[in-house]
Amino acid sequence: MVKPSAEVLIIGAGLSGLAVATFLKHKQPGISLLVLEQGDHPGGAVRSHLEEGYLAEGGAHGFLDNCLESRVLVHEVGLDSEVEKAPLAEFVRYVCLDGELKLIPQQPVKILKAPLIPLTAKLRVLAEVLQKPLPGEPTVAQWVEHRFGKALLPFADAVFTGTYAGDIERLKIEAVMPGLYTMEQTHGSVLKGLVNKVRSGRKDGKKKKGLPAMTSFSAGMERLPQAMAAGLALNREIMYRTAARSVEKTDEGWLVRTAQLELHCRHLVLALPVNRCLALMVDTTVVAPPMSSIPEARIATVALGFTDQAQIPFGFGYLAPECENRFALGALFSSHMFPGRAPEGHVLMEVLVGGRRHPERLELADDQIIDKVYLDLKELIDLPEPPVFSRLLRPKSGIPQLEEGYPALLSWRKRLHQDIDNLHLCGFGWQGIGINDMHKEAWKVAKRILVGLLDEESDEIKGIYF
Ligand SMILES: Cc1cc2nc3c(=O)[nH]c(=O)nc-3n(C[C@H](O)[C@H](O)[C@H](O)COP(=O)(O)OP(=O)(O)OC[C@H]3O[C@@H](n4cnc5c(N)ncnc54)[C@H](O)[C@@H]3O)c2cc1C
Repeated sequence: MVKPSAEVLIIGAGLSGLAVATFLKHKQPGISLLVLEQGDHPGGAVRSHLEEGYLAEGGAHGFLDNCLESRVLVHEVGLDSEVEKAPLAEFVRYVCLDGELKLIPQQPVKILKAPLIPLTAKLRVLAEVLQKPLPGEPTVAQWVEHRFGKALLPFADAVFTGTYAGDIERLKIEAVMPGLYTMEQTHGSVLKGLVNKVRSGRKDGKKKKGLPAMTSFSAGMERLPQAMAAGLALNREIMYRTAARSVEKTDEGWLVRTAQLELHCRHLVLALPVNRCLALMVDTTVVAPPMSSIPEARIATVALGFTDQAQIPFGFGYLAPECENRFALGALFSSHMFPGRAPEGHVLMEVLVGGRRHPERLELADDQIIDKVYLDLKELIDLPEPPVFSRLLRPKSGIPQLEEGYPALLSWRKRLHQDIDNLHLCGFGWQGIGINDMHKEAWKVAKRILVGLLDEESDEIKGIYF
């Protein structure tokens, strides 16, 4: 019998892989595990950038505090005292419409009352209860227009620009909003489904939940993977600069090859973005995936520092739907949410550029992108002086796009998990793209390893973190 290198081998030290490892250690401190990471630091798509007193994020800006798994992780790695929160109830969001920033109220009823769309369009939204479900695999745009009418398309566009940097003409509703899609399928209407949910919550005595808060850390989002990795490094349970090149099923479990090593394990966790995972899976002896890759959207973040002469509206930030034809996808008003992110007397905005529809914009030089972003913002926000600080951050990671064929890919993963009890696929793009999605999936993987329980895929209503 081959001696295993570790009982559990986790490939990838992004939030997913580190969360699986942290949950496993939490529940079973003596477990033998090893994390392999191709890079020289933990965190994958999460990268904080501190320069001249401005703290910006090259990747994720935060996560909502309404996810138990994320709260457990933060507590487990001792970061409770470093948490910073921006409650959504206080930090309103804006959508750019007709060349102006329009405030979006935080509650659905107030949204309906606000003068954002004409009365006829509001009545059309309510007529959703009469619409039959759309057959096939509709895109977000097809589905929203069919159910709620054309007037809601710019708002749906803004939502999926803020999360996926995606194109609603291509994202599949079933993949990106499984909870709403299931409501339509089971209740015949989303509005009816929502009313039912509220009623049954009341019957069960559930308290009405307030709006969640956007959460980060005083030293930025990278603090979370750093803290998770530090615990593993103490016991030499993480290896950097070690890329898995192939994975192979053996009688005892799995064999993973890197440039220098052959590692054996009982449980193999691929905690990787969908495409990296598929690249490792195509040559295994198990059933081939229905596709070898999915599209990704790239974005860049432009961090802009201004003196406090800049009249940035109070709130979380804004998003611009495609129909507005703007250069930037939107911006976060970062130092409003997290005041320590700019030097005294200054403010920080983080502006997003590129996305699924405009990869060509990222081919411009850094200076050109920064100039174009500033000109774009100046039309929307009162900025009497040019920025005193600017930096373009180009994340290496693309954002997986859940488009044509993605439901079949999820079914393939489900079958794989049913057939092979010691293989676990999770990570960026599997069952969601947000940090909370990653942590929920990581917990399911840990549970499956520890007690052999395969959770049903849930059709929850996903939070919107922008
Ligand atoms: C620009 C951007 C902004 C975002 N903003 C938000 C946000 O505000 N809120 C939010 O909730 N989510 C956000 N997200 C999503 C969030 O960052 C991801 O959900 C999360 O970071 C994914 O973690 P992961 O571990 O699954 O994947 P990754 O972070 O991609 O980590 C995978 C790791 O695996 C390593 N790896 C890859 N291949 C191999 C191999 N063969 N061998 C060994 N190691 C390997 C990589 O180097 C990497 O470290 C954003 C993502 C991006 C890109």
